[in-house]
Amino acid sequence: MAFAAEARQPGSGIAARNCGKRVRKLRTRQHKETSVQRSIELLKESQAMLEGHFLLSSGRHSDRYFQCARLLEYPDRAEEALMKVGARLRDALSSGELSFDLVVGPAMGGILPAWILGRSLGLPAIFTERDEAGKMSLRRGFEIRQGQGILIVEDVITTGKSSGECAEALRAAGGHVVALACIVDRRAEGIPVEWPLYAAATLPASSWDAAECPLCARGEAFVKPGSRKMPGV
Ligand SMILES: [Zn+2]
Repeated sequence: MAFAAEARQPGSGIAARNCGKRVRKLRTRQHKETSVQRSIELLKESQAMLEGHFLLSSGRHSDRYFQCARLLEYPDRAEEALMKVGARLRDALSSGELSFDLVVGPAMGGILPAWILGRSLGLPAIFTERDEAGKMSLRRGFEIRQGQGILIVEDVITTGKSSGECAEALRAAGGHVVALACIVDRRAEGIPVEWPLYAAATLPASSWDAAECPLCARGEAFVKPGSRKMPGV
């Protein structure tokens, strides 16, 4: 139909195509926003996204804390949260934008999300883990071909440090990391990652030095995630 219209009215084809592109772009953005909203709902329903006043392991204070293990506790919810990420990766693979045939998650947090995406993409999913010396490495007989394209998958990306350590182990084994995926991208503004990042939800962190914490300034008590004060975390 579009081709026929173009043939009848020379010149209008480009405008029509551009308009089509804009509509598709808008639809993609709307879909992405809807899927991000849904991922946030799933995180909240699973108590994987907590709002309050938290002391993070870095010593900084934050108004938000993620515990993706609570989302992964419900395989159907975790699968739904990662479904759109899987679809975007599938598109990138079929268009040739990305080329990988292995999914790797750094233990512990990355194992299950990597497995879910591996299953969704029809690719093997393995994991890296720390050795006795604490170095991220490939164990258990997992093997990588020289130059093999790899997708790294994490649960939460805050600084990208563990992806970096995972990538280092994969490079040492001959692998070639081409992209990164995660459930929650909570990087503060300005923290770069080395690869294209596919996230189910993007929720930049607000965190402060204790001395500058607005919640402390209001006299609100903080909790330390993982402590007994926080049931279920
Ligand atoms: Zn505080």
